[in-house]
Amino acid sequence: MLGIKITASDGVSHLSGQLDEHMDMKPLLAGAGPIVLNFAKIMTVNSIGIRKFIEFLSKAKGRQLEFHECPAAVVDMINSIPGTLGDPPDPSIVKSLYITYRCSRCDKEEEVLYAVKKVTGDLPVLPARACPRCKVQTAPLLAAEDYFTYMLDC
Ligand SMILES: [Zn+2]
Repeated sequence: MLGIKITASDGVSHLSGQLDEHMDMKPLLAGAGPIVLNFAKIMTVNSIGIRKFIEFLSKAKGRQLEFHECPAAVVDMINSIPGTLGDPPDPSIVKSLYITYRCSRCDKEEEVLYAVKKVTGDLPVLPARACPRCKVQTAPLLAAEDYFTYMLDC
């Protein structure tokens, strides 16, 4: 699928597909009030999509934005590309993102939703969890910096 599909439900806009040259985020600018985005089904992000996303954020200036269920592609974007959370002093708020765990014994990989409790400051400490298959304590595959560098820039 090219571009994104937007499905609204209960005040949340669920995005699916890819952030690319075909995406159209204009429908999200209709109306007023907070814009709540769920990125769980965004598969890939390319550089033109990032540029269009930043344009969207500038058009949405003054609206409160929330990012929910950010997958790896979106986590990479917000941590490596300046401006993808909007501009201070009113950046978008990341409410939750997916953390990858891989078991050191059986290699089972899991994407686990992590609720972000703060906006800025020190990096959160990511919890270890028991592998669902063999119960070994498993740490996140990447360091907290890889998920939360954006907090340090705020
Ligand atoms: Zn295991």
